[in-house]
Amino acid sequence: EAHEETFTFQAEVAQILDLMAHSLYSNKEIFLRELISNASDAIDRLRFERFSRPELADDGERLRIRVAFDKDAGTITIEDNGIGMSRAEVIENIGTIARSGTAEFLRALKDDKRADTELIGQFGVGFYSAFVVADRVVLTTRRAGLPAEEGVRWSSEGRGEYTLETVERPERGTTIVLHLREGEQELLNEHRLRSIIQRYSDHISLPIVMPSEGQGDADDPPTVNKASALWTRPKSELTEQDYRDYYRHISGDFTDPIAHLHAKVEGRYEYTMLLFVPSRAPYDLYAQQPRHGVRLHVQRVFILEDTGQLMPSYLRFVRGIIDSADLPLNVSREMLQGSRALDHIRSSAVKKVLRLLKDLARKEPEKYAEFWGEFGAVLKEGIAEDYDNRAEIAELLRFTSTHSPTQDADVSFRDYVGRMKEGQDKIYYLLAPTLAAATASPHLEAFRKKGIEVLLLGELIDNWVVTGLLQEFDGKRLQSVAQGVPDFGDLEDEAEKEAAEKASADFAALLGKLKEALDGRAYDVRVTSRLTTSPACIVANEADTDFALAQRLRGSGLP
Ligand code: ADP
Ligand code: MG
Repeated sequence: EAHEETFTFQAEVAQILDLMAHSLYSNKEIFLRELISNASDAIDRLRFERFSRPELADDGERLRIRVAFDKDAGTITIEDNGIGMSRAEVIENIGTIARSGTAEFLRALKDDKRADTELIGQFGVGFYSAFVVADRVVLTTRRAGLPAEEGVRWSSEGRGEYTLETVERPERGTTIVLHLREGEQELLNEHRLRSIIQRYSDHISLPIVMPSEGQGDADDPPTVNKASALWTRPKSELTEQDYRDYYRHISGDFTDPIAHLHAKVEGRYEYTMLLFVPSRAPYDLYAQQPRHGVRLHVQRVFILEDTGQLMPSYLRFVRGIIDSADLPLNVSREMLQGSRALDHIRSSAVKKVLRLLKDLARKEPEKYAEFWGEFGAVLKEGIAEDYDNRAEIAELLRFTSTHSPTQDADVSFRDYVGRMKEGQDKIYYLLAPTLAAATASPHLEAFRKKGIEVLLLGELIDNWVVTGLLQEFDGKRLQSVAQGVPDFGDLEDEAEKEAAEKASADFAALLGKLKEALDGRAYDVRVTSRLTTSPACIVANEADTDFALAQRLRGSGLP
């Protein structure tokens, strides 16, 4: 007795479905990429669960994704023999509840009309792209390990509600039938579908099979894609386009990566890594729990999405895969904690990424500037986070400086040191709540007059950078211009020093009065040579927290 139940989509999901149906026109064919990508994930998950659940053991069935179409019925079918879904999972994953990226997707779409369909993959709303070309979608699924009677049929016309029904389904996995909209019939064409699959899904490491027109399922349908894990193929065989397509597949990002590295390492440990630096920050870069973008494979089998084990937090924008030959196939998250092989792989991957960035900065400074604009603030966290690589990270930092005419962060410590004046032994910086405040600061006056460059640090994280560097870069001490008596070292000129001393003596009476008036509120009142046009300024005591920082910490609620 078939018993159908009707459910209502949450408002945000309904909104997305409506958009899919009525507003997304460019690249309609990406629905196939999204559904194939889900099928591939589902098979990856099955292989992974097999390690820990003997009842799911390999039954000899070939793991594959199947695409078929029926001209008469006006349907396209995408099927996988992966993990499948239980009733509760169907409701949770593609039903009632809006997933985490849903709201962001709607927001991004508002900001960037032109990108439309391209944004889908990034926000975890790929399944709904079925409604770009279909006005009715029927998904039938059965979770691996559950009995045949616990199959589920989900069906929707994408208009605010869907139905669920329990069905008999002997085979595990998921079948999705798209009933194409009026006007989408041109998709019901073998050549067309084949070329879409090859264009967007060639790199999927599982076979995507498609029966030829009129060919029954008994025949062995031909494989449409290359079906080999891209990273296992030799570099010489791969084109830039191959890498770009693969990046899209794993990241969901539609902009090209800014750089990538592909390395096969042999020796004590054997592993392959294929890592990408995106050109744009993902929406969740600063989320409480941002996705980490490097996936772990063992002997080509997908093991887990990175949750921080493969890349440190300050490199959380890196996307890609690491495939180890040494870890056991049944490795668990817990086992990874103390794994020597993994420690080794991780530290070598980090070094390689830092070197990739260094090369990018040297060979393609404009691209590096772009990178810095997107991820610089995140990379800075590395100074505090990664003690071992501190020196390498310091070389990658860029700052605004009094030397450059613009507010761009384009000066490295290295540039600064190269321009230091004869006799200058310190790197001067000014921390301020904003760049505008830094530029206008009276603390700069004396430095401007002497022609000494000052780095302008306008981000909260900059304080941790300065502290984290242990006050030093390349043997040069970092010195705040807003702390203590300005110390110009050998740059101090004798005449100025005498003038300042004389002024102090001349104004001794006034200083005494001011000190009295400010008693308890100021530590000291001094005559200074640090100002040229401003009459007075407040400085922090040498031993105290930098003034700008103290103000900021107070604002941020930190102790
Ligand atoms: P994402 O793939 O980014 O998670 P999607 O909208 O494409 O977002 O898919 C939503 C979820 O639905 C998936 O995370 C998965 O849990 C489930 N799902 C979709 N297709 C399948 C499938 N073929 N087999 C099993 N689960 C699926
Ligand atoms: Mg998906």
